[in-house]
Amino acid sequence: MRLIFYTLVIFAIYWLLRSFLKSKPKKKASSQLPPQIEDELVKDPMCGIYIPKQKAITAKIGGKVYYFCSQKCKEEYTKRQEVKK
Ligand SMILES: [Zn+2]
Repeated sequence: MRLIFYTLVIFAIYWLLRSFLKSKPKKKASSQLPPQIEDELVKDPMCGIYIPKQKAITAKIGGKVYYFCSQKCKEEYTKRQEVKK
């Protein structure tokens, strides 16, 4: 009779441990989905390259906001717009 009792206790501990270990990775899986909405792509009107908005160099030309990949592109585009006018 003792053997059955021990087996039941061991089984109960094993079952508790299993359910405890199972519940942990579930929390990890839900946090593994970080929504990256802020990583919006913008087009550089000078060279036509797409760059993330956060990394882009912004310039206001004629009331409009433009995004550039580098300072060089920004300067060149500003110059071209000034020539046009
Ligand atoms: Zn560029």
